[in-house]
Amino acid sequence: MESIGHKKEKELLGRLIKSDRIPHAILFSGPQKIGKKKVAIEFVKSIFCNNREKGWGFCSECYSCRNIDSNSIPDFNLITTEEDSKEIKIEQIKNLQDKFSLTSFSGGYKAGIIDNAHLMNIHAQNSFLKTLEEPKGKTIIILVTDRPDSLLPTIFSRVQNIKFSILPKDEIEKHLKVLGASEKESKEISAISSGQIGKAIDYYAIPEKKEWFDQIMLDINILKTANLGKRFQYSKEKSENYEELIEILEAWERYFRKELILRIIKPDNKEYSAQRLKSIIKKIEKSKYLIENTNSSKKLVLDELMMEL
Ligand SMILES: [Zn+2]
Repeated sequence: MESIGHKKEKELLGRLIKSDRIPHAILFSGPQKIGKKKVAIEFVKSIFCNNREKGWGFCSECYSCRNIDSNSIPDFNLITTEEDSKEIKIEQIKNLQDKFSLTSFSGGYKAGIIDNAHLMNIHAQNSFLKTLEEPKGKTIIILVTDRPDSLLPTIFSRVQNIKFSILPKDEIEKHLKVLGASEKESKEISAISSGQIGKAIDYYAIPEKKEWFDQIMLDINILKTANLGKRFQYSKEKSENYEELIEILEAWERYFRKELILRIIKPDNKEYSAQRLKSIIKKIEKSKYLIENTNSSKKLVLDELMMEL
């Protein structure tokens, strides 16, 4: 299935292909789970596919189209963390550079996608910088990341940044219906997916994910009136798993933003004042920033947030 939305970005990429002005390195930045990697793969297909006119578009049937998805054509490389690692290593970047120095198998472009590019460790980033400084022939590299500020400024300044945004609710709703969701289900899921199509598909396709989300919402309501002991117990349990913790903070932020809107519409509801809600939202944003970008103890960051609820 083709990617959803991002029409403007695709038009721009199509124009670059059509006019033979494909930059040597492009950065796809924007929130998680909105389809950046999928669009990057489709961009590569649009470049490689021989069955379509130059521009955005691919046939999904030719040798290139079929094998780009499985990362199994010699002129294309999809790089991401190896199974046992949390970072992208210098060997992986060197490997890409080696492949770029060979003649193209198809006589055209050679392409690489570095998914979650912010996970390149410092050695990998420095090595990557060399690729940018000495571009080789018809090569294109696409960096995909939701954290562009974790890239070296020297990398950032040498790539063309294309910013991707979250998708409108109705677009997500429409897609969920295509997948078979009922009217009610697609409305409910799109409302809690914050414009992240990947998240919406997860909630639809993996019932445990949706149950997890419902549980997180129940937890917030319990925590709001729980004593500090119980709250700290919760932060101890939830500070172990990084991915889950980030998802929890995102869900909380959404929850309190919704509360804030309700408070503005119905100011008589006094559970939290608008002022207080704003300060909680700020605190959640700050906690998320600290956890994603610093070595602060996740437990301590979460404890501090717990005291604000
Ligand atoms: Zn094709």
